[in-house]
Amino acid sequence: MTRRVALLGMPLRRRHSVVMHNAAFAAAGIDAEYVLRELQRDELDAAVTEARGPGWLGLGVTAPYKQAVAGLVDEVEPEAGSIGAVNNVVRRDDGRLIGFNSDAPGFRAGVELALGRPLEGLDVVVVGAGGAAHAVVWACLDAGVRRLTVANRTQDAASAMLARFERTGSTRAGDRAASALGDPGIGNALATADLAINATTVGMVDPGPAFDAATLPSHATVFDLVYVPPETPLLAVARRRGLRAANGSEMLIQQAAIAFERWTGVGGTADVMRQAVAPLLADAGAPA
Ligand code: NAP
Repeated sequence: MTRRVALLGMPLRRRHSVVMHNAAFAAAGIDAEYVLRELQRDELDAAVTEARGPGWLGLGVTAPYKQAVAGLVDEVEPEAGSIGAVNNVVRRDDGRLIGFNSDAPGFRAGVELALGRPLEGLDVVVVGAGGAAHAVVWACLDAGVRRLTVANRTQDAASAMLARFERTGSTRAGDRAASALGDPGIGNALATADLAINATTVGMVDPGPAFDAATLPSHATVFDLVYVPPETPLLAVARRRGLRAANGSEMLIQQAAIAFERWTGVGGTADVMRQAVAPLLADAGAPA
């Protein structure tokens, strides 16, 4: 029997996850397939129930269902509960479904590769306060960053996110700050940052850089979660300044490899996935 993992979402325009997971199934000699299942909210409960059957390894979950699925599975792992998003589900042998989050560890693996060192002890600025930013900020706090500034177009969302993570990590309360993206204080935070992260859709949906990289110190790293297009205006500015800069492709690959290991028990598939998805990542015309 060919077993399945389905990605649940609406709309589903990207094929990156299909390509990565099916390449890994083939390389590992596992008779399974990863499919896209675009569905309406009123079809979601039935799709999750179906995945309790023996033909299933689990589910992937993307917008807009990362919160709804948390209420439909049998258990949500603590990290996913704290972050407030389930982006993958693993089916246990007894049919129980466990919701987990692979974006946070995927981000950490991807950004630490870009940095060439651990996140612990760094001065970090995160721009954004949406779903992806929640995983990023949780991971930064969990990793023990020294200082964290979150800036968002809507300041209330940044403040609410920091309040949600009040008890996460050991970063001192006085070293955690939320601000509006246009606030002059963000320039001061960027001036001392070791790492500045774009976790907004700017650069993918809206044009222009998500923030001004001009004030970053010369040792800083810029990490942009966007991977379509591969080079955002923010990354172009950072590279022109000679800063270390990386897009979100490695986070995408690392989070997929983490999920794959949870579904199959097979680790070490990041290289196979990276090779398989490279043509799509290089395609500037791929759907955003
Ligand atoms: P989301 O939940 O919709 O959040 C969007 C964020 O972008 C919010 O903070 C929003 O601010 C901000 N924003 C939108 N338009 C803006 C503008 N014109 N100016 C300033 N800020 C703006 O989206 P998400 O799921 O967090 O995704 C964010 C990005 O991360 C996307 O590009 C996605 O592709 C990428 N991502 C990458 C990976 C990876 O593996 N590399 C994983 C997940 C997500 P407001 O709160 O003010 O609306």
